[in-house]
Amino acid sequence: MARDETRIKIAIQKSGRLSEASLKLLDKSGLQFARSKDKLFWYGRNLPVDLLLVRDDDIPRLLLEGVCELGIVGQNVAAEKILEARRRRPDADLESLATLEFGHCRLMLAVPEDLDYQGPAQLAGQRIATSYPRLTRRWLHDHGVEADIVTLNGAVEIAPSLGTAEAIVDLVSTGTTLRANHLKAVAGVLDSQAALYRGSSVLPPERQALLDKLVQRILGVQRASETKYVMLHAPRDRLARITAILPGAETPTILPLEGQSERVAVHALCTEQVFWEHLEELKSAGASAILVLPVEKMLT
Ligand code: ATP
Ligand code: ZN
Repeated sequence: MARDETRIKIAIQKSGRLSEASLKLLDKSGLQFARSKDKLFWYGRNLPVDLLLVRDDDIPRLLLEGVCELGIVGQNVAAEKILEARRRRPDADLESLATLEFGHCRLMLAVPEDLDYQGPAQLAGQRIATSYPRLTRRWLHDHGVEADIVTLNGAVEIAPSLGTAEAIVDLVSTGTTLRANHLKAVAGVLDSQAALYRGSSVLPPERQALLDKLVQRILGVQRASETKYVMLHAPRDRLARITAILPGAETPTILPLEGQSERVAVHALCTEQVFWEHLEELKSAGASAILVLPVEKMLT
């Protein structure tokens, strides 16, 4: 396939835990694709922006090599692959443009359930199985421990029962897999979620402008998903108290209520999560008719 140098390419995971949320984010950013049957390359229909559907492990390399300009991948994979690339190119790096609030997980050190774990020093000279050898090596180094790293591409959690390692470093979200293998998590190596990354290629101005526009849209969708529009009625003399409760709200809009001089309508954009506790607090402070609405798009 000949490379079209006027288009932007975005890499996302083809099928896995990040695929659906990645596609949804791009869809909400107004991108439409002609979905091809082989599902590897989707041509952008409304903008010169195409999609590459690949294994998540390949995304950092596609960005580092300038094949794609943007990519959505877990911070765990990005961090590991950046460290790997630095062996060949010490300045290899990817710019993280935004965390995306999905794909949350934690890379953790786990040891056999019945081991009385006292701290990293106990790992000295032991074998640690992981699919993240460089992050594991860095963590061990930060804790001043020398251990052997056994790199495995899958089924890391069975290594201790097979006798090929004494401990593991693996992704954990609920801990069910660990428990099933009689392991317990004892330390966090890296907290991770999906993030939007920019490759290292330098673009001609026109393509850079398109990329900037695209990134603004994606960030706008991302910010909108965290933002709520809150409307309520409040006694005029409690406005300061009520505004203070609204999470992440800047100056709210105050509107008169027909035929009422003591009460006003308050409209506010809350940039932080609005919990039931906030609404209950607002009510106790004198607010009524409280509505929380989702925000679909934002451009600020
Ligand atoms: P691929 O075929 O693309 O290589 P994979 O099996 O490596 O897929 P998935 O299991 O789909 O990958 O996980 C992709 C990413 O989802 C992980 O790298 C991580 O960032 C995130 N993730 C979130 N929760 C978990 C979890 N419980 N276990 C593993 N990964 C998780
Ligand atoms: Zn993978």
